[in-house]
Parts: sequence; C-alpha cells; structure tokens
Amino acid sequence: CGKLYVVATPIGNLGDISYRAVETLRRVDLIAAEDTRHIKTLLQHYGINQKVISLHQHNEERASADLLEKLRAGLSIALVSDAGTPLVSDPGMPLVRMVRDAGIEVSPLPGACALIAALSAAGLPTARFTFEGFAPRTSAERKSFFKAKAASPDTWIFYESCHRVLASLRDMGEVLPKDRQIVIARELTKLHETIVKTTLAEAQALVETDPNMQKGEFVIIVEGAPKEDLRAEISAEQQRVLEILL
Ligand code: SAM
Repeated sequence: CGKLYVVATPIGNLGDISYRAVETLRRVDLIAAEDTRHIKTLLQHYGINQKVISLHQHNEERASADLLEKLRAGLSIALVSDAGTPLVSDPGMPLVRMVRDAGIEVSPLPGACALIAALSAAGLPTARFTFEGFAPRTSAERKSFFKAKAASPDTWIFYESCHRVLASLRDMGEVLPKDRQIVIARELTKLHETIVKTTLAEAQALVETDPNMQKGEFVIIVEGAPKEDLRAEISAEQQRVLEILL
C-alpha cells in the first residue's frame, strides 16, 4: 500500500512551509488539492512539477474513493488544502477516515494553521481553548451562538469572512459584556497583517470606522468569561448550595 501525507501549506506567506513538506510534495506520486490552480502558485514557487487532482467539498466522497484505490495500488499521495492545515475548516475528513479505516498509513506534515497562529500571538489564556470553526452566517444564528458561548470560561476562537466581520462584532456586542477582551487577527503572515487586542466595544468601533479592517481574512479570539460573570450566570439557589459545599 501507499501512504497518505496530510500536508500543511502557508496561510499567506509562501515561506511558511516546512522543508519536509516541500520535499514530500516533490516526492509523492500525486497531490490531491482543494483548488488545483491555487496550489500551482505554491508548486511553481518551489519549482515542483507534480500531478495535481482536485478534492473539494462537492466531489469529496467520490474523489476520496478514487484516491483510496490509488493508495491500495501503492501510490503515495499528499493531501493539501488552499491554505493552512487540511481538515481544519477545510476538506479532507472523509478521505482521512476512509484511508485510516482501510488500515493504510496517514501521516501529518504539520505547519501553518490560522487559529493556532492567531492564538500564539493573542496574549489570551491558551491552557484551554475551543475552536468553533466559522461563525454562523445569519444574525439570529450568530446571536444564539454567541449567547451559548458567553459563559464559557475558556478562550474561544472562530473564523470570520470580511463580508460578515462587522455584523458579527455588532451581534456579539448585543450579547456579550462590552468590556470582554477580544483579539482580531487579520491577514496573518501577509503584508497587511494586523493583530488588535482590545475590548469588544473598542473592537467594534475600530472595524466600524476603518474600512481596511473590513478587508482580508480574519480570526477572532474571545477571552473566556471572568469568574465574576460566571457567578452571575448561576442562580441564588445554586450559589447557596455551592457555598454549603465549600
Ligand atoms: N485550513 C485553514 C487553517 O489551517 O487555518 C483554514 C481554512 S478556512 C477555509 C479559511 C479561513 O481561515 C479564513 O476565512 C479565515 O477566517 C482564516 N484564515 C486563513 N488564513 C488566514 C490569515 N492569513 N489570516 C487570518 N485568518 C486566516
């Protein structure tokens, strides 16, 4: 049998790829990519001439079954997405599951991941955090999502598109305390990289007034609820029981 390599690629800066990842992309029999044109920019940059086939959310099941047959026939395959780590808000899960279930080796080549890059530079607690993927697309769904997260004591992280970042911050402002610390990490590793750590109220004002802050790609990180907020969430009766227990 061949082997499936899950290869992280840059999230903006073409230099952010490991030496081993470049060597692997060069050496495998074929690359399965979310967007074949997109990956070619990276391949050209590193002078890699490789066969690329497409595996995206609309052909995932069928393409994965084909790739499994190729692995069974002994080919080695690299899976890449458009940016960062495959399977993190990106295609690839059905393929990895199928290949693993078939008893064929799957090996990760770690590298860039927008949420981890943002978290590493945010200055918010990292001991426990939750990644929520993309925030919901409609305002009503977003508000219930933010409400559900409001009392979480852990740092939480979500991806947001430039089209919805302002609406998302406005919705958050209606649901979370205005002084909650948040980090907006925009265009990471790129020319216009911006990382702002401030209160929710100030973040909202900043994105409202600066059109540049509504462009590009975003990771939003939210501080967990401070202990006092958690106390407000529990009822007087629960508090009384807790005090007895203490
Ligand atoms: N697999 C990728 C990863 O490992 O981070 C994520 C893919 S997801 C389809 C794309 C989203 O990730 C963007 O909409 C944005 O929210 C976030 N993202 C990707 N690159 C980014 C960057 N350079 N700066 C900020 N956010 C980024």
